[in-house]
Amino acid sequence: GDEEVDPTPLPLSSISKSFLERRWNDTTPYASKMKLQSWFQLPNGNWELGKIISTSGTESVISLPDWKVLKVKGECLVPANPDILDGVDDLMQLSYLNEPSVLYNLQHRYNQDMIYTKAGPILVAVNPFKKVSLYGNDYIQAYRRKTIESPHVYAITDTAIREMIRDEVNQSIIISGESGAGKTETAKIAMQYLAALGGGTGIEYEILKTNPILEAFGNAKTSRNDNSSRFGKLIEIHFSETGKISGANIQTFLLEKSRVVQCNEGERSYHIFYQLCAGAPPSLREKLNLRNAEDYKYLQQSNCYLVSGVNDAEEFSIVMEALDVVHISKEDQENVFAMLAAVLWLGNISFTVIDNENHVQVVEDEALFSIAKLIGCDIGDLKLTLSNRNMKVGNDNIVQKLKLSQAIDARDALAKSIYACLFDWLVEQINKSLAVGKRRTGRSISILDIYGFESFDRNSFEQFCINYANERLQQHFNRHLFKLEQEEYIKDGIDWAKVEFEDNQDCLNLFEKKPLGLLSLLDEESTFPNGTDLTFANKLKQHLNSNSCFKGERAKAFTVCHYAGEVTYDTTGFLEKNRDLLHLDSIQLLSSCRCHLPQIFGSFMLTQSEKPVVGHLHKLGGADSQKLSVATKFKGQLFQLMQRLESTTPHFIRCIKPNNLQSPGLYEQGLVLQQLKCCGVLEVVRISRSGFPNRMSHQKFARRYGFLLFENVASQDPLGVSVAILQQFNISSDMYQVGYTKLFFRTGQIGVLEDTRNRTL
Ligand code: ADP
Ligand code: MG
Repeated sequence: GDEEVDPTPLPLSSISKSFLERRWNDTTPYASKMKLQSWFQLPNGNWELGKIISTSGTESVISLPDWKVLKVKGECLVPANPDILDGVDDLMQLSYLNEPSVLYNLQHRYNQDMIYTKAGPILVAVNPFKKVSLYGNDYIQAYRRKTIESPHVYAITDTAIREMIRDEVNQSIIISGESGAGKTETAKIAMQYLAALGGGTGIEYEILKTNPILEAFGNAKTSRNDNSSRFGKLIEIHFSETGKISGANIQTFLLEKSRVVQCNEGERSYHIFYQLCAGAPPSLREKLNLRNAEDYKYLQQSNCYLVSGVNDAEEFSIVMEALDVVHISKEDQENVFAMLAAVLWLGNISFTVIDNENHVQVVEDEALFSIAKLIGCDIGDLKLTLSNRNMKVGNDNIVQKLKLSQAIDARDALAKSIYACLFDWLVEQINKSLAVGKRRTGRSISILDIYGFESFDRNSFEQFCINYANERLQQHFNRHLFKLEQEEYIKDGIDWAKVEFEDNQDCLNLFEKKPLGLLSLLDEESTFPNGTDLTFANKLKQHLNSNSCFKGERAKAFTVCHYAGEVTYDTTGFLEKNRDLLHLDSIQLLSSCRCHLPQIFGSFMLTQSEKPVVGHLHKLGGADSQKLSVATKFKGQLFQLMQRLESTTPHFIRCIKPNNLQSPGLYEQGLVLQQLKCCGVLEVVRISRSGFPNRMSHQKFARRYGFLLFENVASQDPLGVSVAILQQFNISSDMYQVGYTKLFFRTGQIGVLEDTRNRTL
């Protein structure tokens, strides 16, 4: 941040109405206006602004807004900023960068629908959960012409474009935050701004149309967000020399497959299932033997079919239209819907137990017949695949009958795989359609919309991967900020060795070290036939207990000390989720299908002409193939992502969810604070505390505080006057640095001078 503390030229947008009112209507006696203000924490954890009436020893008497007067210990008080800094549009302008001041500043703005605030180099976006009039063409044009200055996604995106052109460097916009914080909406707002620049061939329109498709297939209603993305996404938008969009490419991360077969009460599976059931035209319904959502077991289990304010049938036609726009043929579209119907019918497959060992047989019913027809396979083969397992023992093939729970697992694994392949195939088709033409310049802006740090009561493999990714992104973030600060200090010739930065390398090592890191040990245990979640947990405790970021817990649990806090993981299901195997029988079945969508399963169809199956196993991850584990594959993707981001100039947006009810106008301090910590906003604040966040030119400093000098200074030059001021106020030498053009201050120092100035004026 290059913010100078100078109250006079604040942009009008940041001077709040209530501030003006207070200034003009303030009838409190002159003397009390000069008292210092402090934050006082109430028993419920919220902060209240109190005026210090008097101080004696370690105790102070304060008055709170409700006129209550309290005697409190000095350490319970946290300094508040002068009123003039209410609602500043960059938190770096605050003299006191403490938690309550940051919280209050964001809330103050939020109450006036000013949902965007800068925190030095990063943009904080607080979810309004209602339409705010900050978007659309007029705003886009205003930000383009720079006639509006207040913080905005548009402003960040505009900076990215300008820097891309000016520096000839690729840019990235990295959006993070909890589920429901507004990441996906923010990504769309950024895309909107870019699209407004145009491309000329309609490519920008195509890019925007990928959103409804990916949301239909990759988003679902959860308890935290009615439109929760269940995958991470990087969209890279390419530009021509003239700054027009020339194409795009999408990469997705870790789709939550399990949702296809299982989701919690009150949540839904992927939107597309409900859209298809509600919106398919009669001819399609008949062709796919489609029922209502209520008739499918996979959709029944969570007992939730509707999302308030959403019409699934309408959404379906929007999706179909979008599929047209990205050049997916009507025939392919129909095939996609057939696959979806097959997945739904799979859930309705039922079994009868045929012996007292719980072995099963598939019931021959409508579900079975429908699937065979939809995927084009033999009914007998389908039955066998769902109830038997072929195993190789030595040179012999043995057929093992499945027990009920195994058969259900095999069935669900098949449904999940079909869906995941379908999703990947769609992304591939979209990418083909958006592909950059031959005349690419290689310049691009990437937008990353990826799940933020997660910490629940129960954390599983998914949180493990997500938090690992966030640990990597956090390091990227820290390094970037460090670089920025360092450059600024070097430019002005100050001693930057005095600035310390947080480093999370230890935690990353805990994950990545070979052979004794979390990921290696997980993979190792996943390949042992006798490995279980418990033996995995025990191995972690055995090898990692000396690591400062690791704590063994009881039974199958362990704790990792992440940058954003400690998270305890329950290893139940870790090995299976990491292996993510589909049985050979299922793979062979799919290979034998007269499947309508051969591309979905890669070169599967080749097997019909009796070619060996092995080469095609990778795609579905067969038990026998040299398949990468989920964690390893994810790590690979992540490294690739980091490498790509490393070569860009990053712009960070941190989304904040002000309440858990998705409700407008409600700002819960505790919840916001926790997220500010998790997504590194307070870390930026902390970094600037350890650095010199307040800067003021020699001239300005001398002008502003020179009159406080007791004696005339011989030297009239601004630097001489400045140094005299610093000496008179006994400002300790490690609290400031004198640069070539500016003075650099640690947090709070300017506040001290301002208070004195106010008292004296
Ligand atoms: P995330 O991707 O972080 O999980 P979303 O972007 O899906 O969260 O946002 C969740 C919901 O919050 C949206 O469906 C929308 O209702 C609301 N929302 C988010 N950002 C905005 C915004 N800028 N303006 C209005 N509503 C928003
Ligand atoms: Mg999202």
